[in-house]
Amino acid sequence: MDNGHLGLKRERFGLKKGKDFSGMINLASLVTGAVIGMRQIRPPHLDVDSPYFPAYKRMMSNIARLATEPHPSGSEAIRTVQAELLTEITDMGLQPIVEDASLELEEYTEVITSRFRSSKEVWWEKNREKIASDHDIHSFSEYFHFRFHDVGADSLQNIMVKLQGVDANRGVLFVSHYDSVNTAPGAADDMLAVCAMLEALRAHAHSESLANDLYFLFTDGEERGLLGVYKFVEMHPELKDKIDMVINLEMRGNRGGFLLFETSPKAYQQLKTVVKAGVKPIGFSFAATIYGMMTNNTDFSMFRNAGYKGINFAVIEGVEHYHKATDSIENLNPDSAWQHLLTVLKLADYFAANPAEEAVGPPAEAVFFPFSPGKMVLIKQGVSQSIAAAIGAASLLYGAVHLKQKKLVISASSLCMSLMLMLTSASSKWMPSASYLFYSPLLALLLSSLTSKWKTLQRAIRSLAIIAVSMLWVPFAFLVSVALLQPSVLKFLAKYKILQ
Ligand SMILES: [Zn+2]
Repeated sequence: MDNGHLGLKRERFGLKKGKDFSGMINLASLVTGAVIGMRQIRPPHLDVDSPYFPAYKRMMSNIARLATEPHPSGSEAIRTVQAELLTEITDMGLQPIVEDASLELEEYTEVITSRFRSSKEVWWEKNREKIASDHDIHSFSEYFHFRFHDVGADSLQNIMVKLQGVDANRGVLFVSHYDSVNTAPGAADDMLAVCAMLEALRAHAHSESLANDLYFLFTDGEERGLLGVYKFVEMHPELKDKIDMVINLEMRGNRGGFLLFETSPKAYQQLKTVVKAGVKPIGFSFAATIYGMMTNNTDFSMFRNAGYKGINFAVIEGVEHYHKATDSIENLNPDSAWQHLLTVLKLADYFAANPAEEAVGPPAEAVFFPFSPGKMVLIKQGVSQSIAAAIGAASLLYGAVHLKQKKLVISASSLCMSLMLMLTSASSKWMPSASYLFYSPLLALLLSSLTSKWKTLQRAIRSLAIIAVSMLWVPFAFLVSVALLQPSVLKFLAKYKILQ
């Protein structure tokens, strides 16, 4: 390699400056930002001195008792789980309501086929060979008749407990599902949420001064196509105008941070309330966009589609245990379980003491993301778009002035700036939930260019900018790969029998 040529290149990329160590400082800043970035999405450590710790111990022993075997809808096992849950709730001195949520065959067929991406006929053509070889079934209606009984759609039961507020006609609704798939004991999905909700119930069971009605809904048939919740929403139109927030609790894996990954539209005020409740959510506004690209659905989808306001939580790491026999209490990460419990208890504590109407507020879309561990930046989408516009305009002005002075050179920095400017304007228009990922590096590049005359200042700004940008980008890249890439890789490995 020609040294002179390399030197020229390094100079142009701003990496070489006499005998300094800019390159190494940049690298160190990148690593620092990446480390802090990853810490932002880690759950807090289980704290044995916390006043919430006894609840954690009860929750874990309940999970150990209730998630020993698969308990899919319609099975003997789910009846046992249900009986134990009802005993646990009545032992608190509360009266759970068991609601029949069974569907008719036509209703079941309608609910499931309405979610097909193609027509019934096209779907049947595509799947009929496989279905015929698996079940000796030769028509669409025969198949749905078989499925209807097989998934227990004819014997679903939701469990609901309502804690009555004082003079309150408004409330919040916590939701989890107590059925599992038939391949997993479901310790994480979703017995953790069920048992966390039991602790919230226990904490407020005998409160005589609840500021809101607190509803706790344990659905059946979630894993069979959101059937129990479908029926619940249909059976309770009166709740639509009473519930100010639906809080859905899910798990797509069994470790990692408990992410606030989805909200109803225009949830700025709701998120503000969640932050006020002291939850320290790990929330990303772009996550809902990614979630939309995945095939997963949760009970929350039904509430959201029916026009309820609310938020949806889940972990997404440990997806290799999702719906597998290894979704057991032994494999459930204690820190993730702890954060899950804290989230539920703090939200219940908050809404036990504060009016839920606050969470409704004037509707506005929100942009949010963690910035430093335990802190979430939350701004209105309009504000984020104005910031994007201001940074974009400043960069354009900078470019125009340099062009006029004939100082504009094609360098890595100017190319990056142009690219980021394009991405900032495109994302600001079409994906505002994620535009901060582009306008923050653009701002960093602009500041670095503007300070090029003051080398020490420039270096300091550059280091801080690299730290900040990698704090934003590293968790984004990590979560996107875990959410979208990892399941495909696992599927591929399973298909070719590399991994069972
Ligand atoms: Zn689930």
